[in-house]
Amino acid sequence: MNKIGILTSGGDAPGMNAALRSAVRVALDLGIEIYGIREGYRGMVRGGEMIQPLTWESVGGILQRGGTIIGTARCDEFRTRQGRVKAAKNLVEYGIDSLIIIGGDGSLTGASVFRAEWSSLLEELIASKEIPSDSAETHPHLLLVGLPGSIDNDMYGTDMTIGADTALRRITDAVDIITSTASSHQRSFVVEVMGRKCGYLAMMGALASGADWLFIPEIPPHPDTWRDEMCAALKAGREAGRRDSIVIVAEGALDQKGNPITCQEVKETLEDKLGEDTRVTVLGHYQRGGSPTAFDRNLGTLLGHAAVKTLLKVRPEDPPQFIGMRGNRVVSSSLLECVELTRQIAASAEQNRFDKILELRGPGFKLTYDILQTLLQSGPKTSQRKGNGYRIAVMHSGAPAPGMNTVLRTAVRWGANRGLTMLGVQNGFPGLIQGDIRELTWMDVGGLASLGGAEIGTNRYVPSNGDYYSIARSIEEHKIDALLVVGGEAGYDGVFEIFSRQKEFPNFQIPIVCLPATIDNDRPGSELSIGSDTALNSIVWAVDQIKQSAVASRRCFVVETMGRHCGYLALMGGLATGAERVYIHEEGITLKDLQDDVDHLVTGFREGKRLGLMIRNESAHPVYTTDFMVRLFEVEGKDLFDVRQAILGHLQQGGNPSPFDRIQGTRLAVQSIDFLVDKLESGDYQHAFIGLEGGKIRFTGMEDYTRLEDRDYGRPKQQWWMDLRPIAHILAQPGPGKWK
Ligand code: ADP
Repeated sequence: MNKIGILTSGGDAPGMNAALRSAVRVALDLGIEIYGIREGYRGMVRGGEMIQPLTWESVGGILQRGGTIIGTARCDEFRTRQGRVKAAKNLVEYGIDSLIIIGGDGSLTGASVFRAEWSSLLEELIASKEIPSDSAETHPHLLLVGLPGSIDNDMYGTDMTIGADTALRRITDAVDIITSTASSHQRSFVVEVMGRKCGYLAMMGALASGADWLFIPEIPPHPDTWRDEMCAALKAGREAGRRDSIVIVAEGALDQKGNPITCQEVKETLEDKLGEDTRVTVLGHYQRGGSPTAFDRNLGTLLGHAAVKTLLKVRPEDPPQFIGMRGNRVVSSSLLECVELTRQIAASAEQNRFDKILELRGPGFKLTYDILQTLLQSGPKTSQRKGNGYRIAVMHSGAPAPGMNTVLRTAVRWGANRGLTMLGVQNGFPGLIQGDIRELTWMDVGGLASLGGAEIGTNRYVPSNGDYYSIARSIEEHKIDALLVVGGEAGYDGVFEIFSRQKEFPNFQIPIVCLPATIDNDRPGSELSIGSDTALNSIVWAVDQIKQSAVASRRCFVVETMGRHCGYLALMGGLATGAERVYIHEEGITLKDLQDDVDHLVTGFREGKRLGLMIRNESAHPVYTTDFMVRLFEVEGKDLFDVRQAILGHLQQGGNPSPFDRIQGTRLAVQSIDFLVDKLESGDYQHAFIGLEGGKIRFTGMEDYTRLEDRDYGRPKQQWWMDLRPIAHILAQPGPGKWK
């Protein structure tokens, strides 16, 4: 294989650096030269010093940096054949005939045009004697891989684009902050969010922040009625006791006739029709900037790795590939197809064909919109009298996990909207045992979408012998028809005990769903649990600070993360912060490992390294504790380096939930309530746990719990993320091919 060129193009997106670092290191590890092409296609057209080899060190310390260190630009010259002829000439001069392009649909369209023309561009250059006549033989094909780099999440072939999660984080942080001031003054705020053609950020931002109204380009309202509809909804919210009104407007929002809906117009409408004190906030470029979230760092890392591996695998006759993520799996598809479908959306928008746009966005988009439309109502649409009279109780169990409140809010509102009576059990199983249960209404859960912790309390207690009779009595006394248990191992174990005793206690023969909410991400039947994304971001934030504190000294940090016996937080935290070593219980630690690690540290610091970062899961080993390791490294490091430990502790369980935890918590809560109601309506009952698998929501019967769960260590027997260890290993090396 010849040399690889890599460039970032179009709008910058946080996480592009992670993709760059990963692609560069994976290529170098395989002995392939890789060149950075600065400023996107502009650098390719100009050549010269705009194209430079990238080294292992040149991509060090960039994971936490926003934007792209090799620059990005728009380049009109590349849109012309003349520009592309120059670009081809430059690539041939450097011997580059494989490209990794990280950018949006525009950039990837440009890339596919360039690839299709490659042979003819070389012919033209040979004819004009600008490149040697054998160039067509030495570079017969241009191999091409595209990665989605765009904050808009507007591309086909991937669930998420690199940068979208960070942008969403900026939006929810901003709306959370605005909400607190809006509610103090009982003001209305109109917030403009990026997204000219795609309402993803606006819709998910509204869902995650609990906003009260939304305008997006995909679902335009009627031009004559939207003002009254919005005002009626917001007025009803005020009357129901809401202290703030937040309207989110996507940049490209339109009505059905294609007239733009602007923030100014929304503001004037609220002032004129409702007399509301209304302010406008345009989030603008704030959404693009800043340090990437853990998700974007890891997404960039995995896609960058896959890009190089794909270039090695593809044959010249294969179509150029687009690499994305579906569920938690890297997927590769035809670049041309992805670009074409993405462009069809833009074309449909120009023709005001909104039904077509929604179809192309996929069923999940409309479903999310419908969920949002329900949650933002000021009260239930179906009255309890008209409903079926079922009573569903919600409780938390286990340690607190950010997102528990979001789940409760959604469950209560979704259930109430279906005419159910929703009950909250205080403080986990002890509350269920003691009958500490009360009805929760629509407005009781207002403001909970964004709040960390667990307002109705949670508890690690797992019921034992004498408790079952009391639980059965509470179910009877409070007429509980079905139960939703939101939590971690304690909740699942408790429900498993209930499941095992249903013959003894007929009252236990009601539908029950366990919903995974634990920062540890150790629940079977789900690849991700609610709270783990927030915890991961807290870890990444803390490690970034710790790394910065070590500027002047030679220092090795041993950072201890939570996770009980599950190494998810440690491994993903290590991947996102560039830790050189991650210790997890699943792999264990041997004396030989520690000896090797000491040798690596000593050699590294002797060769001039300034910072060491080791991440250790709290239960990685019973004897080789964090304290033990710190002392060992200290003794062996002698005068060469200091060692410090950082036990991150409970900051990992706190904080307001990340947008991902809020969004997934909402989806899981909706599906759980629907499942329970379906079971009640069909006169059937089942004890099950819900989860996300490959991006889809699944239910698994409690009868499979012991088959899927490693009972000794309270984690799933199969853990998908274990496959990522080799990638972490390659990237953490001190140089290419050092740790074989
Ligand atoms: P994004 O990649 O974020 O969608 P743009 O649409 O601005 O951003 O595209 C970035 C660059 O990609 C453009 O400035 C241009 O150089 C190149 N490009 C876009 N579309 C084409 C095209 N049809 N043909 C050739 N180059 C293109």
